[in-house]
Amino acid sequence: VQIGKGPNAKDLKIEGVKDIIAVASGKGGVGKSTTAVNLAVSLAKKCQLKVGLLDADVYGPSIPLMMRLQGKPEVSTDKKMIPIENYGVRCMSMGSLVEEGAAIVWRGPMVMKALEQMTRGVNWGILDVLVVDMPPGTGDAQISISQRLQLSGAVIVSTPQDVALLDARRGIKMFSQVNVPILGVLENMSYFKCPNCKEPSYIFGKGGARKTAEEMGMQLLGEIPLEVDIRSSSDEGVPIVVSRPDSVVSKAYGDVAEKV
Ligand code: ADP
Repeated sequence: VQIGKGPNAKDLKIEGVKDIIAVASGKGGVGKSTTAVNLAVSLAKKCQLKVGLLDADVYGPSIPLMMRLQGKPEVSTDKKMIPIENYGVRCMSMGSLVEEGAAIVWRGPMVMKALEQMTRGVNWGILDVLVVDMPPGTGDAQISISQRLQLSGAVIVSTPQDVALLDARRGIKMFSQVNVPILGVLENMSYFKCPNCKEPSYIFGKGGARKTAEEMGMQLLGEIPLEVDIRSSSDEGVPIVVSRPDSVVSKAYGDVAEKV
């Protein structure tokens, strides 16, 4: 993949889709998908937008579980797939197309072909915003997706841990190389509040993302704590902004949605 040599802009439009926002992280396991899901639902519910969610993490699709998507997408008369909707968000994921638990052992070109199907081969209807849960990392796949989807902007998710922040910096640099504006950095797993003594513990370090964002001239979009409810909601397929809409965390996700 050659940076800066993307296809023509006119080839890149997805019919009916106004803006495309990527949720990315340099490293896996930092809460990128959790963020993508809660951001997408907040954009739909709080900001009253028409929202789509594309799971571009083809090798490890987690959106069907987190959004409790059932069945396979139907195909419309124009031979396009119809996204599966839940919580007011129209979703498309490889996990809805293959058998549950199936291992996807494809090389890069196959993945890009699948993503092409999952974007332009989909009848999204009219969308204000399509949120893309990116695959983790900053390799060829991420660069290709950024170029082929003509992203309006990217949200970088990181924990406050040095190793995650180092990768987050790589992500920021990658997006700037392909001319995608960074909408901000979201710190996830910022602290854990002990349910007994209410004291916060900074398990992965304190204030790392704020510092990194400042150093790189980016805005910090928020600080999401490490919370059992965030994990259990995801596992149950009901995002925390749906299961506990009045919680501090849900408000924080709502603020992120308003900022982006
Ligand atoms: P990624 O997409 O970066 O690989 P996920 O969103 O899948 O990460 O999150 C990894 C795991 O951590 C999941 O089990 C998820 O429920 C959990 N998790 C993510 N963010 C939080 C949080 N703030 N508090 C508790 N658990 C979280």
